[in-house]
Amino acid sequence: MASREKSAKTLRCPTCGALVRARDEDFPFCSDRCRKIDLGKWASGVYKISSPVVDPEVLEDLGGAGTGGGSREN
Ligand SMILES: [Zn+2]
Repeated sequence: MASREKSAKTLRCPTCGALVRARDEDFPFCSDRCRKIDLGKWASGVYKISSPVVDPEVLEDLGGAGTGGGSREN
């Protein structure tokens, strides 16, 4: 059971998890896009992409208003 494919060096793209071959141009990323995405993560700090981040305080405020009333319980 000697599989040549198994000996091929492959890694998973840190960004999307796709298999990437060592000889790939964008290794260890599957594509230039994924590489840029990963670089962007580090460049902007702690994995913060321009995505809608909800402040915990806001959630707390909303939750507090709901449970504070306590009118949902029978
Ligand atoms: Zn990828």
